[in-house]
Amino acid sequence: MIIFWHRRDLRISDNIGLATARQQSSKVVGIFCLDPNILERDDIAPARVTYLIGCLQQLQQRYLQVGSQLLILHDKPRQAIPSLAVALHAQAVFWNWDVEPYSRTRDQQVTEALQQQGIKVYHSWDQLLHFPGEIVTQSSKPYTVYTPFWKNWVKQTKAQPVESLKNVEGLTSQELDLAESAGAVSLPTAQDLGYRWDNELLLAPGEKAAQEALETFCDFAITEYQQQRNFPSIDGTSQLSAALKFGTIGIRTVWDAAQTAYNFSRSDEVCNSIQTWQQELAWREFYQHAMYFFPELAEGPYRHSFKNFPWDNDPELFQAWCEGQTGYPIVDAAMRQLNETGWMHNRCRMIVASFLTKDLLINWQWGEKYFMQKLYDGDLAANNGGWQWSASSGMDPKPLRIFNPASQAQKFDPEAEYIRQWLPELGSVDTECLITGKIDQRDREVCGYPAPLVDHKQRQQEFKQRYQQQKNSQS
Ligand SMILES: Cc1cc2nc3c(=O)[nH]c(=O)nc-3n(C[C@H](O)[C@H](O)[C@H](O)COP(=O)(O)OP(=O)(O)OC[C@H]3O[C@@H](n4cnc5c(N)ncnc54)[C@H](O)[C@@H]3O)c2cc1C
Repeated sequence: MIIFWHRRDLRISDNIGLATARQQSSKVVGIFCLDPNILERDDIAPARVTYLIGCLQQLQQRYLQVGSQLLILHDKPRQAIPSLAVALHAQAVFWNWDVEPYSRTRDQQVTEALQQQGIKVYHSWDQLLHFPGEIVTQSSKPYTVYTPFWKNWVKQTKAQPVESLKNVEGLTSQELDLAESAGAVSLPTAQDLGYRWDNELLLAPGEKAAQEALETFCDFAITEYQQQRNFPSIDGTSQLSAALKFGTIGIRTVWDAAQTAYNFSRSDEVCNSIQTWQQELAWREFYQHAMYFFPELAEGPYRHSFKNFPWDNDPELFQAWCEGQTGYPIVDAAMRQLNETGWMHNRCRMIVASFLTKDLLINWQWGEKYFMQKLYDGDLAANNGGWQWSASSGMDPKPLRIFNPASQAQKFDPEAEYIRQWLPELGSVDTECLITGKIDQRDREVCGYPAPLVDHKQRQQEFKQRYQQQKNSQS
């Protein structure tokens, strides 16, 4: 019997490690370990835990449909997994690698503990089209700049989806009793774990919803992705980020669907749109490779000159940013979208991140953590990469980018539809005032909307000065 340990691959289709386990044995049982080291951290989003638990419920159903079971453990993996494997006399435990520093240390510990018990361990790469080390520079180094990474990445052959788990043998009732004595528990609710999320999730949990979202996107929105992806009032993106974070869809399946759409496309415009979307998948892989090779990214800035940046870190300004009360409509609309849905449009993630760091002069790591506390797609590599890019502290050859909230709104929310959706109190204010942020003092008072907390022009000058001083002091 083989145990397959699911982590961020909550599916039975197109799962490399699981398919390999099935090739080795007809008896495969799945496990998921609710790890207190993760669940008790202070950057866990209730929306994310809710999505996770929903995915586990669906995965349990999927296992039952094909003849086996998904067992749940709720303890430290290093103890819980070997205990279960020993109790069930498992020959081997299989899982797919992850890039995050914590996962890598944990996996090493679990591997050693299993091997001490004489249980074999097999690992595969699954969550990326190309694993770390596969895409390297001519001098065999990891890339630290996206564009050459993309050029190399896109020309490599991509693997096809692998076979779904089927016709598998599960545990007998006697073995299920043994599993229970060795720590297997029923699946708790998010609330049992101390997390409450009452709003609807953008994407329903599980494989089926992810597959349907992919199909719908590849039938329609992907063809206009290039034109529409930057407009937050339009559903122009795939909204697959949580599915990709938790692996309710296989990345090979995703690539295959995009390539099929590409092969059927009849114009250069559509081909360009599809390729623009594929570039986003490459950004995902770029940041995961970066996290794998430079785990120190998780702790601080990539650019050393940023280590002691003189941030103001004003707690009141931070609170206003978190609550969507900065007096800048596009920033506040985006923060309210995040707080209410657990998701934020990519254009707006860049706007609010630039605003926190360049206008409020607050350390990007505060924003990074707040995002993790709210996002249902919160992912260390993508979030850290996005924040470092926005703060100018990361792997970006053109690092000093400052977004002007008014120009961003004028360009990407010209009718203020997005602003009105998330700031209903400003519903009656003129579009021009909403996008420029120049709202009459009286209107602000009537609507109960704050005056701008800071002056953008002045603050961006201040940031540039500090940035230059910092660079000079390091050279
Ligand atoms: C400050 C900041 C924080 C972010 N935090 C996260 C995060 O925690 N989790 C997360 O998945 N993405 C994060 N992103 C990237 C991006 O905003 C989201 O992936 C995207 O908005 C998700 O919507 P979508 O699925 O409709 O994306 P689509 O536009 O349809 O893109 C398809 C997929 O590509 C990947 N992707 C797209 N853009 C990026 C990117 N810039 N970096 C890495 N992967 C990308 C995602 O997996 C996404 O689902 C962040 C970006 C910024 C600027």
